[in-house]
Amino acid sequence: MEDTEATPTAISTAPSTTTPPTTNGSRSEPGHDGQGQEHTEQRAVIMSVLDENHTHGPAQDSEGPAVDSEGPRDTRTQHPENGVHPDPQTPHCPSPDPDMSYISGADLFGYVGIEAVLDQMRRKTMKAGFEFNVMVVGQSGLGKSTLVNTLFKSRVSRKSCSSLHHEKIPKTVRIHAVSHMIEEKGVKMKLTVVDTPGFGDHINNNNCWEPIVAYVQEQYEKYLREELNVTRKRRIPDTRVHCCVYFLPPTGHRLRAIDVEFMKHLGSIVSIVPVIAKADTLTLDERLDFKHRIRQDLAANGIQVYPQKEYDEDPEESVLNNSIRECIPFAVVGTDREHQVNGNKVLGRKTKWGIIEVENAAHCEFSHLRDLLIRSHLQDLKDVTHNILYETYRVRRLNQANVDFSELGLPSSGSPLCSSLCSTLCSGIQDPSEGESQL
Ligand code: GDP
Ligand code: MG
Repeated sequence: MEDTEATPTAISTAPSTTTPPTTNGSRSEPGHDGQGQEHTEQRAVIMSVLDENHTHGPAQDSEGPAVDSEGPRDTRTQHPENGVHPDPQTPHCPSPDPDMSYISGADLFGYVGIEAVLDQMRRKTMKAGFEFNVMVVGQSGLGKSTLVNTLFKSRVSRKSCSSLHHEKIPKTVRIHAVSHMIEEKGVKMKLTVVDTPGFGDHINNNNCWEPIVAYVQEQYEKYLREELNVTRKRRIPDTRVHCCVYFLPPTGHRLRAIDVEFMKHLGSIVSIVPVIAKADTLTLDERLDFKHRIRQDLAANGIQVYPQKEYDEDPEESVLNNSIRECIPFAVVGTDREHQVNGNKVLGRKTKWGIIEVENAAHCEFSHLRDLLIRSHLQDLKDVTHNILYETYRVRRLNQANVDFSELGLPSSGSPLCSSLCSTLCSGIQDPSEGESQL
């Protein structure tokens, strides 16, 4: 069923104004993945994009606001001689632990340099690179491949109508994973696009979500086995699906039975981001009504899509995520063609009546999706996958009495060593889906 092209192709992008992918998240511990630090300003990016859209109408900048990749420069913290000095305005936060004193800005005798850890994390991430695995699901012809190519500004997914590639609709759902190494401004990302040809393409689509559930779980299982290996790799290859973009056909009606079934079955094991495909085929009013009905159907069926309210960590994150939730599902348009608009080259779809600019928030919500997946929440998607979704899988598997340890290269399940290993692995494990998140 699984069809994976092992050798990643390398795509290197020339330096551009594009913001590097988010490399840190509040859910990640320092050092987890060795990833960096631009979370806050990149959250600001999506905030400003969404704010502009909500409060001041469409954003003017079709590329989205440019962010200085060096990070925000707060003039209050710049010292003419030694760079940065503590900010006397920093409030004293009460420490949650009564045995621990809280020392901040004004209490320090001088510049310590703790913040340099951010540069160290950045350097490590740049050296090691990181993995990001996106799955696309939806009927053929909805523009999945085109949208992925638009998102990563490269040909990372083959279009079904390409003259070189005569794709027949498979009789059952197939899983097809292709990896690419994309480099931008020295940051390397191994992107794996997991396509699911055949999904929803048949007369009888009953249970067509099953192979997809199986694939997602297989990747968790692979990761778990690597983790439990006695001689485990220093860095476990991560093939877990970090995000599933689910394409809704632009019918303008409601969710179909297949959409509800899919999202119900997958929503608890993978982060789903639903999108309205080919949104240029709907008028703005139709889009709004469709979105509203979809949100109603999601709520009525208890379907959770990313970003889930229960994972919000603080009020600031809630504000940002609420604005994203109001916008879901994103009405998107994809293309791989550039056109001249007012002397600038823009990605767009040329029609008899004008050009639909895919990165212009007045025309569609592609830029919101791009910002969410890449610029503001990429690391959060990885953190939710690792800390919540995989963790839930891991707890369930380790609690299963029939874990076959010999399969994992460990002593067989009846042995005393196995029992002690199992109790060590399972000790303190609480199902993250119950009660408080463990983050
Ligand atoms: P896939 O089978 O879902 O991967 O779909 P493809 O990406 O191969 O696209 C199928 C066809 O739809 C191609 O002719 C694309 O040019 C076209 N297409 C892709 N995205 C859009 C879109 O946003 N709007 C419109 N109108 N057509 C699109
Ligand atoms: Mg395709």
